[in-house]
Amino acid sequence: MKNWSGLEKWNPSEILLPRSEEAIQQIVKTALDKKRKIRIIGSGHSFTKLCVTDDILISLDNYQGLVQVDKSSHQATIKGGTKLKKLGELLNAEGLAMENLGDIDAQSIAGTISTGTHGTGANFGTISTQVRAIRLVNGLGEIIVCSIEENVELFKAAQVSLGALGIITQITLQCMPSYKLKMVYEKSSLSEVLKTYQSINQSTRNFELYWMPHTNTVLTKKANITNEEIDKIGIGSFFQEYILENIGFKIFCEFAYHFPSKNKWISEVSAKTLSTVIKRAYSHNIYATVRAVRFNEMEYNIPIEAYEEVMKEIQRSFEKNGFKVHFPIENRFVKGDDIYLSPAFGRDSAYIACHVYSKKKHKDYFQKMEDIFRAYGGRPHWGKLHTQNANELLQLYPKMPDFLKHRVEQDPEQVFISPYLKSLLGIF
Ligand SMILES: Cc1cc2nc3c(=O)[nH]c(=O)nc-3n(C[C@H](O)[C@H](O)[C@H](O)COP(=O)(O)OP(=O)(O)OC[C@H]3O[C@@H](n4cnc5c(N)ncnc54)[C@H](O)[C@@H]3O)c2cc1C
Repeated sequence: MKNWSGLEKWNPSEILLPRSEEAIQQIVKTALDKKRKIRIIGSGHSFTKLCVTDDILISLDNYQGLVQVDKSSHQATIKGGTKLKKLGELLNAEGLAMENLGDIDAQSIAGTISTGTHGTGANFGTISTQVRAIRLVNGLGEIIVCSIEENVELFKAAQVSLGALGIITQITLQCMPSYKLKMVYEKSSLSEVLKTYQSINQSTRNFELYWMPHTNTVLTKKANITNEEIDKIGIGSFFQEYILENIGFKIFCEFAYHFPSKNKWISEVSAKTLSTVIKRAYSHNIYATVRAVRFNEMEYNIPIEAYEEVMKEIQRSFEKNGFKVHFPIENRFVKGDDIYLSPAFGRDSAYIACHVYSKKKHKDYFQKMEDIFRAYGGRPHWGKLHTQNANELLQLYPKMPDFLKHRVEQDPEQVFISPYLKSLLGIF
C-alpha cells in the first residue's frame, strides 16, 4: 500500500473489503477475539501515517452508495466508503448538493470528515459540520448511532475522529437544493488581498487565493451562486485544465527539481502568465480540480485574526531563506465550529497550505513554515504533514480529554490504535 503522494508505504498482513455492515461487524469481532489491530483506509489521500498498519487494513470501496434521502429536510444518508465524486452525482440526481467541498473529490466521505477536511468560505465550517448523524461499528463490534439529537457528546467526537472510535458505516449529511456556481480566477497582489480579504469574504461565497512565492502576485478564486448557463465542456476547457494546469505544471516541477536555482524564476514566470478565467458549472462539478502532479503538503489552521501577520512572516521567511520552492501557497477561510478535534474548534480561521513536489525534500521548508504557524497558535490539518506530538496537541485542543474519554468507551481494547495514533493521542 502507499498513500497518494507515495511518501508512506506499508504492508498490511490482510486487506479486507467488506460489502455489508454485518461483514464489518464480524471483522471487528474476530479481530477483538484474536487481539489483532485494524486500520481503515478511505482513498489514502492523507499525507500522514493515519492508514499505516502491519495488521488488518479495511477499505469500504465495496460499501458505497446512498442509503436514504429525505427531500423535505434536504438530508441524505450515505455509506461511509462513498467517494465524493460519486456522492456529488448521486445527490445531483436527487436534486441535492453539498453546501461546500474541498479542492478534490477523490476522497471517501468517511475519510473526508475523519480528518476535518475543509473547503473555503468564511460562512462555512469544515465538511464535518455538514454531518447530522453518524453510524459506526465500534471496537467491540457494536453498532453505535450518534447525531445532533442522540449521543450528542459522542457525535462531537465522531465528527472528526481519525478512525480512532470505530468504522464509520453511514453518514447523514445536511445538503441543499442543487445549485450552480460561477467561479472567477483573477490575478491580484498579496498586499492588496491582505488589506481587503475581510470585505471579499463578505461579498464572496467561496474565496481563496494562491500566493506565488518570491513575488507579490496572487491568483484569487471567487465563487458565487449563479443562474447563468453552465459552460459547455469542450476541448478548450480540457486544454486549460489538463494540459496547461497539469502537464505544463509537471514540466515546471521537473525543471525546478533538476535546476533548483530556477525555482524563483519559475514562480515569477508563472505569476506573469496568470490571466482571468471564468467557469460556470453545477457545484459538484466545479469545486474539485484535477491534481495530476503529486506533491507533499503541510497545512495549518490559524486564528483569522493572525492571518495577515502570518502571511507577512511567510513572505519575510522566503526573503530571508530563499527557499527553492515555486509551488503556490494556498490560503482558505473557514468558519469556527464546536467539534472536539476540528482544527477550527472555537475560532473562525484561515488555512495556509504549503506544497512540495513529491520527488523533492520538504522537511527544512516545512519546518520553517511550521515554526511560524506554531508561533500563532496554529493547529495542523490531521491529514497533512506536521511534527506535533500528543503533549503539544493536547494544548491546542481543549476538548482532547473529552475525545479520549469517548475513545476509551468505544474501543477499550485499542483495536483501532496504531503506533502513529498513539503518538498523536498520547495513548499508552
Ligand atoms: C491532492 C489532494 C488534495 C486535497 N485537498 C484537500 C482540501 O481541499 N481540503 C482539505 O481539507 N484536505 C484536502 N486534502 C486532504 C484530504 O482531504 C484528507 O487527508 C482526507 O482525509 C482524505 O480522505 P481519504 O478518503 O483519502 O481518507 P484516508 O486518507 O484514506 O483516511 C483518512 C482518515 O480517515 C479514516 N477513515 C477512512 N475511512 C473511515 C471509515 N469508514 N471510518 C472511520 N475512519 C475512516 C482513516 O483511518 C484515516 O484516519 C487533500 C489531499 C490530497 C492528496
